[in-house]
Amino acid sequence: MLVLLERGATEAVVTDVAARLRMFGLSVHRAESDGQTRLAAVGEVASVDWAGVDQWPGVEATHPIPVSFKLVSRAFHPHDTVITVGRCAIGTSQLALMAGPCSVEGEEQAFTIAAAVAKAGATILRGGAYKPRTSPYSFQGLGEQGLKILRRAADAHGLAVVSEVMDSQQVPLVARYADILQVGARNMQNFALLHEVGRTQKPVLLKRGLAATIEEWLMSAEHILSSGNAQVILCERGIRTFETYTRNTLDLNAIPVVKELSHLPVIVDPSHGTGIRNKVAPMARAAIAAGADGLIVEVHHDPDRALSDGAQSLYPEQYAELVAQIRTIATVLGRRV
Ligand code: PEP
Ligand code: MN
Repeated sequence: MLVLLERGATEAVVTDVAARLRMFGLSVHRAESDGQTRLAAVGEVASVDWAGVDQWPGVEATHPIPVSFKLVSRAFHPHDTVITVGRCAIGTSQLALMAGPCSVEGEEQAFTIAAAVAKAGATILRGGAYKPRTSPYSFQGLGEQGLKILRRAADAHGLAVVSEVMDSQQVPLVARYADILQVGARNMQNFALLHEVGRTQKPVLLKRGLAATIEEWLMSAEHILSSGNAQVILCERGIRTFETYTRNTLDLNAIPVVKELSHLPVIVDPSHGTGIRNKVAPMARAAIAAGADGLIVEVHHDPDRALSDGAQSLYPEQYAELVAQIRTIATVLGRRV
């Protein structure tokens, strides 16, 4: 339920209304919009006498939130959420450029790629240290050693770090090194993990599941917000369809759909979305044109020898060229890199 407070309601009034709502057993979350305080009261709302709440001092009105993802919805939070990570304010006119290898493979690899993507204009270095691989015989990542390397490589070039956390027990460890916790597509509905990252105050990059509807994806974000962490960045990374010419089908429809439904920033991963190096740049350009708040792109200086996802990794020169094109497209849209 959305509880709109009267304009100019004092902090004491807001605190009092929130406390009284909590006495119904509801959780209360707060947003400000155009000088007005909005409370979302979530939980068992059906048994509450809302006509009575309407009469409370300081309450202007109450309205049902007409979707199941309450805290994620624009109905609760009309303005875009802005998430500041390092030099980037994600969800503003500045586009978030995240780039780096699929997996951290070693010191030299990470430093080489970090230098290249920083020079091209990226502000956030990606790289997996814990890798969700289809085969148990494929490279599984360097673990904590990989996180240490990634952190040092990022720091050497003034970059922030995004890295995947695969298990709720890994959250404190990954949070020690990464600025953004990535929840991968295969874990989009790992509710224990969503709950655990929701209890941190680190931004979370929530990838869309391989076969998840937009509604399911937003409900996964709702798990994180309802656990107390409002810093969620959504990432469209392609879904599985009957098409076989590409690894996944990149659902760019999701961008304007999510932008209307939610205040959370949305970025696009054209690397996993296509799975094919020469398809990455066209889809990255299209994603920005469609209103995405940024990109996460796999880049490798020696992709033939990459331990994962070499076939979809851009060469550093290709990444630099892509960023130059994105700069031009951004200008048309009133955005910037
Ligand atoms: C990745 O970013 O390398 C990755 C495994 O992504 P996804 O979870 O989207 O497959
Ligand atoms: Mn990958």
